[in-house]
Amino acid sequence: MRSIDSEKPDIGAVIVCAGRGMRTGLAYNKILYNIGQKTVLETVLDKFVCSRVNRLTIVISPADEDAVKELISSYPNVGICYGGDTRAKSVLNGLNALGACDIAVIHDGARPFVTTDIIDASIASALKYGSGVVAVPSVDTVKTVDGDKIVSSLPRERLYNMQTPQTFVFDDILKAYENCDEKVTDDSEAYMRAGFTAHIVKGSYDNIKITNASDLIPSFPRGARLGIGFDVHRLVAGRPLVIGGVVIPYDKGLDGHSDADVLTHAVMDALLSAAGLPDIGVLFPDTDDKYKGISSVLLLKDVAKRVKKAGFNIVSISAVVIAQSPKLSPHIASIRENLATDLDAELSAINVSATTTEHLGLIGSGDAMAASASCILSENDRGE
Ligand code: MG
Repeated sequence: MRSIDSEKPDIGAVIVCAGRGMRTGLAYNKILYNIGQKTVLETVLDKFVCSRVNRLTIVISPADEDAVKELISSYPNVGICYGGDTRAKSVLNGLNALGACDIAVIHDGARPFVTTDIIDASIASALKYGSGVVAVPSVDTVKTVDGDKIVSSLPRERLYNMQTPQTFVFDDILKAYENCDEKVTDDSEAYMRAGFTAHIVKGSYDNIKITNASDLIPSFPRGARLGIGFDVHRLVAGRPLVIGGVVIPYDKGLDGHSDADVLTHAVMDALLSAAGLPDIGVLFPDTDDKYKGISSVLLLKDVAKRVKKAGFNIVSISAVVIAQSPKLSPHIASIRENLATDLDAELSAINVSATTTEHLGLIGSGDAMAASASCILSENDRGE
């Protein structure tokens, strides 16, 4: 057997995508289904790109070749090969196409909720023990049945549900699959039939395999967090009016310690709230001279960094500015662009509207402006 360079092992991955996914009821392969902004396959590839894997082979059915080739064109070191008529044959084709390496990571293309940490943990286990099979303790009680009769109960404390990735020393798993002509349903089974001992790595209950139509429903990002923010400032003469970083011509401006950008303040508090971080009153106190007259856009950039570092990506922001006048609609496009640039977010993820109070209250009399913002954040892989 080849000796593995433990400092810089050559790690390849086989992503098995050759099934037709008939149980999802889609007219196409489920790996091409969009979850959030990306397909299932791209979501999987994003996780592997951040892992210790150097190169990948995707095992596909010929019917998906054009679509898959287009999707993978922007990913480095990704090849494709055709599957066989069983999963075991598909994996064997994938291992042969991948070519010799130290460690082979085998993953189901229909498990997009795997994390980079889980992939790397299975690799670490394979480097240490020869194998790393991702699994979670069974939650349901499992019984063997014969027809409609229960035959026996299995002790739940010793039962685990196998997931992927399942990661092995390449030579061992290749040998196991070459000599395995049975219809094994997972890689650890082929590996154990060849006489090896398989080691478990803790997976996640979120790491589901998309199988049935109901699995496709949660397009809401997993681990999503909702945030809400609100702010109000007095309108006074002799100050510039700054909304979402845009200076708007008007005879009055918002009063405050900073530039009093009411919209940016509401957006920052929404983001901080969703990320579980202290609000802007705590982070940037108006008693601190450092923030006197500061452009709120600078604070927004700082908030964006804090949110990312806390482990979150921005999925969407929706905000409303409440002002009797001036008319804000001509400025909405530049406000959205400003916020998207400062937050390093997609323009389509940022939405801003404006409304009045029908001349009611202090806002209606032109003495104040308010803004409310909500946001959705999703967990990023590594708090980067
Ligand atoms: Mg404020």
